[in-house]
Amino acid sequence: MALSQKLLTDLAGIVSPQNVLTEKEDLIPYSFDGTAAAQQMPGCVVLAKTTSQVVALLKLANQTRTAVVTRGSGTGLSGGSLPTPDCLVLCLAKMDRVLELDRANLTLLVEAGATTQAVSDAAAAAGLFYPPDPGSMKISTIGGNVAENSGGLRGLKYGITRNYVMGLEVVLPDGEVLWTGNKCVKDVAGYSLRDLFIGSEGTLGVITRVLLKLIPKPAAKKTLVATYGDMAQAAQTVSDIIAAQIIPCTLEFLDRTTIRCVEDFAKVGLPLDCEALLLIETDGHPAAVAEEAARMLDLAKHNGAREVRVAKDDAEATRLAAARRSAFSALARVAPTTILEDATVPRSALAAMIRFVEATAKKHRLRIGTFGHMGDGNLHPTFLTDERNADEMHRVESAFKEIFDEAIRLGGTITGEHGVGVAKKAFLPKFAGDAQMRVMRELRKALDPNGILNPGKMFDS
Ligand SMILES: Cc1cc2nc3c(=O)[nH]c(=O)nc-3n(C[C@H](O)[C@H](O)[C@H](O)COP(=O)(O)OP(=O)(O)OC[C@H]3O[C@@H](n4cnc5c(N)ncnc54)[C@H](O)[C@@H]3O)c2cc1C
Repeated sequence: MALSQKLLTDLAGIVSPQNVLTEKEDLIPYSFDGTAAAQQMPGCVVLAKTTSQVVALLKLANQTRTAVVTRGSGTGLSGGSLPTPDCLVLCLAKMDRVLELDRANLTLLVEAGATTQAVSDAAAAAGLFYPPDPGSMKISTIGGNVAENSGGLRGLKYGITRNYVMGLEVVLPDGEVLWTGNKCVKDVAGYSLRDLFIGSEGTLGVITRVLLKLIPKPAAKKTLVATYGDMAQAAQTVSDIIAAQIIPCTLEFLDRTTIRCVEDFAKVGLPLDCEALLLIETDGHPAAVAEEAARMLDLAKHNGAREVRVAKDDAEATRLAAARRSAFSALARVAPTTILEDATVPRSALAAMIRFVEATAKKHRLRIGTFGHMGDGNLHPTFLTDERNADEMHRVESAFKEIFDEAIRLGGTITGEHGVGVAKKAFLPKFAGDAQMRVMRELRKALDPNGILNPGKMFDS
């Protein structure tokens, strides 16, 4: 049922008419996110600018039982901000102010719609560092990062979004505003509600402000690229680096298909005749960086790397890292439909998982390019397919299921960073088990008894 004229008038009264979009051509850009083969038109889009507007909008939505899908930049890869039919999309991209940088406490307070890049730039302008760096950071919002608990290329050494969230302002589905967390480094008063909202995928509340931890900027960095004729050699290099008790800030991997697509797209001079490539970055004190880089170079060579290139300056390092960041976009150019997954396993099971993905591609006659955060055990097998080909899509689904089953069998998870959304919800019960599913459903019911926030995501209602 379409949204009523009365509701649309009331919404316009809260945010002003120009911030309520209802025309088809205005709604289309909000009818999908970064997830392949998923689209649904919303009833309307509301662009909020203040927390008090979000409060009024949620009160109205709760009273009228209108579904609300919160949206940052819509770069999500599990269908989290995909509209439900006739829902209200609450877009926070205009709530993008950097509110306070506290040098004494090393914290940054921002509105949820600020981009990850703006957060990183604000920290850098003060000589500080905000490490989480999802590949989408130029456009993704910090609210979306918190809602998905996003990772990034520096996760191995510095951790993920959760490790930098000190406090959150959240508007609950009935319009009540809740602050959880503060600038204290230690605080164990009560349940950590902050942790509950991190990774809640828009199903428990609308995050409007985020208090982030910043750290000192590393003084030096070195970037290495190692190429291999055999995938197993690259996997062994990763294991050996970790076993040598070196934790580089970045330890990323590209397979042959991805290397070719990236080189075609980014033209950074990657060799095209290799099976695997590792992008390795180490940062910290200059002496430690030099020593770690030298040891990793030896380990790479010892494992049969054909070539190890050390970036000669910052510009080359940035170019090489940018090439890795472009992996998804580069793969997306070669097939009409690109489905990117994020099966994740303990690091010790990486080589087995990579072999399984390759065998699955062969078995189902599919093209898969794999890249990912190898140091985190987080792989992105990316299906290069065509959603119009029903037979091929059927084989893609079977391959997915087999890959997730294998990840679980190896002690891994169905998603390392992209979230459950709609894309993984069928796999969640098997992964989480009955007790966890019951507790998660009950938490949702307690916070959102009318089920207005992002219905149908993570679970069926
Ligand atoms: C090219 C590319 C590269 C990527 N690389 C990475 C990567 O390296 N690591 C990684 O983890 N992810 C990556 N992603 C996935 C995606 O960018 C992240 O999930 C990101 O955090 C989503 O941010 P967003 O602002 O686009 O959120 P959206 O896509 O708009 O929303 C994502 C989810 O969060 C909810 N949400 C958004 N804002 C709020 C809020 N303020 N309050 C409550 N709920 C909210 C939505 O309802 C939805 O469920 C990549 C995506 C692309 C397209």
